[in-house]
Amino acid sequence: RVHAHKVQGQLAPLPGVKNIIAVASGKGGVGKSTVSVNLALALVAEGATVGILDADIYGPSQPRMLGLTGKPSSPDGKSIVPMRAHGLQAMSIGVLIEEDTPMIWRGPMVTQALMQLLTDTRWEELDYLIIDLPPGTGDIQLTLSQKVPVSGAVIVTTPQDIALLDARKALGMFRKVEVPVLGVVENMATHICSNCGHEEHIFGQGGGARMAAEAGIAYLGDLPLDIRIRQQSDDGKPTVAAIPDSDLAARYRAIARST
Ligand code: ADP
Repeated sequence: RVHAHKVQGQLAPLPGVKNIIAVASGKGGVGKSTVSVNLALALVAEGATVGILDADIYGPSQPRMLGLTGKPSSPDGKSIVPMRAHGLQAMSIGVLIEEDTPMIWRGPMVTQALMQLLTDTRWEELDYLIIDLPPGTGDIQLTLSQKVPVSGAVIVTTPQDIALLDARKALGMFRKVEVPVLGVVENMATHICSNCGHEEHIFGQGGGARMAAEAGIAYLGDLPLDIRIRQQSDDGKPTVAAIPDSDLAARYRAIARST
């Protein structure tokens, strides 16, 4: 830990950003982007000034999830003013290109694009910058952990063995690059039938908590598989912004507080 802070401390801070929190997963489709945006919104609800950077260059989700439209402005032709949505500052490669344009890029171009998004965006006095990473342990994760001082990483997984296997690899990567891991969030932990109220553990039960206990890291909480979460993020107004008084929003806020 002490060593980790020393190494991270040698990296120059991002202008306008106090704390950088990376949200990662091993496997794709486990709900990492959904957790990232709701965690960011929960921190706003707790009174913080928060930005979200979509670091998934190949498959950016945040423009759709936040309902971002139009292009960001660039008063000096170099730096970019972040987009605003639901009280967040937001930036994604997805707002700089057309939605259906594939980014057919090799590693070096991707890492260059990530660094530009990070350093050319004029973040304004952020308490937290949440970085929604792509799944896996590749170029983007490495560049991020080596070039900017990440305060900590949150790992998102479902309780399913195959997701946990990959989540452990993400954990191993952060340990190797000496980024402190803040804990595990278990997404899609349970499903309650909206017709009959029957509860079912579609992806298994308790896997996230087991992983956290085995690895000696914090278990930050869980979210159910709930149709509202999917619908609201597809509609561009994630759960914490759409239904702030709900039990679901309260869960995200509890996770934000323990992060
Ligand atoms: P990832 O970033 O891990 O690839 P996403 O956050 O994009 O995953 O989520 C994948 C899909 O699952 C999205 O359509 C999202 O709306 C949906 N989803 C994520 N979490 C939940 C949940 N707890 N309940 C219902 N749908 C969810």
